[in-house]
Amino acid sequence: MAKCRRCGREAGYRVSYAKLWLCGEHFKEYVEERVVETVVRHGMTGGGGRVVVAVSGGVDSMSLLAITAKRRVEMGVEKIVGVHVNLGIEGYSDLAEAAVREYCGSLGVECTVLRLRDILGVGLPELASRAGRPPCSVCGLVKRYLITAYAVATGASAVFTGHHLDDAARYMLKDLYVGDFKSLAGLKPAVREPGLPVKAKPLITLGKKDIEAYAELAGVPHLEAPCPFKHSTGVEEAAEGFLKALEREHPGARLILLSSMLKLIEGYLEPVERETYRRCSVCGMPSRSSVCSFCRLTERTLGEPMGGRVLRSLSQPVYS
Ligand code: SF4
Ligand code: ZN
Ligand code: ZN
Repeated sequence: MAKCRRCGREAGYRVSYAKLWLCGEHFKEYVEERVVETVVRHGMTGGGGRVVVAVSGGVDSMSLLAITAKRRVEMGVEKIVGVHVNLGIEGYSDLAEAAVREYCGSLGVECTVLRLRDILGVGLPELASRAGRPPCSVCGLVKRYLITAYAVATGASAVFTGHHLDDAARYMLKDLYVGDFKSLAGLKPAVREPGLPVKAKPLITLGKKDIEAYAELAGVPHLEAPCPFKHSTGVEEAAEGFLKALEREHPGARLILLSSMLKLIEGYLEPVERETYRRCSVCGMPSRSSVCSFCRLTERTLGEPMGGRVLRSLSQPVYS
């Protein structure tokens, strides 16, 4: 039986890319230390005054909230706010909101809920059907916009999201395959844009299995039921299959891919991105075109571009 590298007791957890066996207690410690190290190394707190943690209620973001709350001081963070977007999906969103509220309460973390129905007057299913687009593509856009807008309106220095290594590696391969280099550039561990909080992925060096094992050991509650719209595209599934096979042959393959992609982003993609940087003429948020995708989506589906109004309303404390 393998022994824990840190204490010599029986080890039940193997970190394959580090060739490391650990007992439960030291595995938890290892995961937390890795997250702190990632946050510090990439300057993810953006000064650390007020850090918004985007929490969906799933295992990744709830674990991120737990670790950020526990290791806040080591990360150099003054205040944490858990932010949840209630998407208005029947039979799912209210459960997710309740789980997030309860866990924030038990950790003593301030919690803000942004309800899509209160903000836009419609829930995600209706918005997606009016837009004639798959719910997940509308969801990603709307959640990203609302959370960034909330962070800007409340003067946050950073937004933490629960993307992990498996997510990042899969999306990187997919973006490379379809030639979406702008999305690829956004997959950096920490993205900085003028006038915006740092967008950071503190779990980016941890695999999904490690986070699930951490959540179980640390007793992190989370929603078991997936969102009813959850599905993967054919390209994502193929990329995941390829990465799993590569990882079996070469433990640590996803980390190698991450580091190679970072060289590509920082050396070649970012300089071009910076030149094409602009702001939405309606709401002023960063945009790839003269009007941002949120303002375009809301204009097409609700009859008016809502960005400016949303930004103003999020400055009021009515959604807390
Ligand atoms: Fe949104 Fe799709 Fe995730 Fe559901 S599965 S929360 S619709 S991105
Ligand atoms: Zn140990
Ligand atoms: Zn806009």
